[in-house]
Amino acid sequence: MKKIALHWQILIALVLAVLFGALLPNQIKYVSWMGDVFMRALKMLIIPLILSSIVSGVSNIGTGENLGRLTFKTFSYYIITSTLAILTGLFLVNTIKPGVGADMGLAQSIDNIHIMKESFGQTLINIVPTNIFQAFVENKMLSIIFFAIIFGYFINQVGTKHSSFLKDFFNSTFEVMMKITLFVIKFTPLGVFGIVAKQISTSPDLVQLAIGLGKFMFTAAAALLIHSFITLPLISKYIGKINPIKHFRNMTTPLLTAFSTSSSNATLPLTMEAVENNSGVSNKITSFTLPLGATINMDGTALYECVAAMFIAQAYGVDLSFFQQFIVVMTALLTSIGAAGIPMSSLVMITVILTQVGLPLEGVGLILAVDRPLDMLRTATNVWSDSCGATIIAKSEGEILTV
Ligand code: ASP
Repeated sequence: MKKIALHWQILIALVLAVLFGALLPNQIKYVSWMGDVFMRALKMLIIPLILSSIVSGVSNIGTGENLGRLTFKTFSYYIITSTLAILTGLFLVNTIKPGVGADMGLAQSIDNIHIMKESFGQTLINIVPTNIFQAFVENKMLSIIFFAIIFGYFINQVGTKHSSFLKDFFNSTFEVMMKITLFVIKFTPLGVFGIVAKQISTSPDLVQLAIGLGKFMFTAAAALLIHSFITLPLISKYIGKINPIKHFRNMTTPLLTAFSTSSSNATLPLTMEAVENNSGVSNKITSFTLPLGATINMDGTALYECVAAMFIAQAYGVDLSFFQQFIVVMTALLTSIGAAGIPMSSLVMITVILTQVGLPLEGVGLILAVDRPLDMLRTATNVWSDSCGATIIAKSEGEILTV
């Protein structure tokens, strides 16, 4: 019998999960454990994978000049695509005006959302860890990445005896981590089934919400789709000279996983595997750009934060001036960099934007109920943008890809 391709298995799992969650919500405990185990396995991979991939990637890049050029290209791509994403959202939210006359009765209490208290400056300072082990324990991605880049860079500054030992060690660890990743990937359909069935069984009545918040959901979803299916493919085709359709097909498994898990960090192992093995990007590029991308490049998140903040302003009847909208755009860009690649992290960041432009924080309660489906879309957008960035940068470095 011919084996069904993995992405079809995942799609079938998604459909079955929706049916199971909707029809048998009381039996959910029999399947939700599969999602829990899958998520735990992905999370287990993240830190050793990020550490080994960045250290080996950066040490293989070699000279400081190469590293500098790659960093410049990577950051330019992140900032340009995130800004384009935000502007797409801003345009649609100003045109459709989903918040005007929105039903404030739908607002929920926001007790379980931590209000972000740290300033942007402090976030930057905190990137330098005081204790690297604490950073591992607390999943401080930016600190781990910072340490790994420094460590990888200085591997080339010591004698050959030490540097070749360390390079071999980290290259080998990375190989093993990727092998474990390939093994975990096989279970994606089961994991997705467990995660999505549980989500569906506990989510509020979407039809009811769609009537009240439908325009908002439509605006955010439309902007995310425009960015994913028009802007990023155009950039890939005309600037990166890659075939976006082929690349998209190569990315189905990580994209469906991002969609189901709502976490770009958890999806990272799968993203790395697909960009490397399917689209043919070298490990040198993926190991530098993808962990960084999963942590700081969030086009979907940036776009969503802008649309959500504008929607809340409209719902409260506040007309934001051009200057205030500019602040919204800038804050959305900066906070998307600071947002963690975990479910619902946008919601925390939106409170920062609301504070900046003087809107009530309770506004977040208005969009709470519809966050999950939109989180799924924006996470897939985030991962898609990371993967396009890796291929574009690889092409610009003269690599021969399969796309
Ligand atoms: N869930 C998103 C991610 O992991 C972040 C967000 O909440 O926007 O990429």
